[in-house]
Amino acid sequence: MNQHIHCIIKDCHYWQQGNKCTANEILVATDEFGAKYPEEMDAHMAAQLTPESAGNCTTTCCKSFMPNGSNYKTLDGIKKMK
Ligand code: SF4
Repeated sequence: MNQHIHCIIKDCHYWQQGNKCTANEILVATDEFGAKYPEEMDAHMAAQLTPESAGNCTTTCCKSFMPNGSNYKTLDGIKKMK
């Protein structure tokens, strides 16, 4: 699958000029899910998660956001804030 993910969150490690996401995979979830589960709950666990309904786009978030300069190491070797 040839996907292009566009994103305007410029302080994310995966963001690139032209508003492109360069992550190999991301996890999009409901805001409720994002607030409930820790940073470690991310795309690598997606197959195990139960799908949810969001209702509209204002209640979704990217769970793979990783602030530039953060200090927690993830499975792909990139550092993420704890
Ligand atoms: S990981 Fe999420 S927040 Fe970061 S650039 Fe990609 S889509 Fe945007």
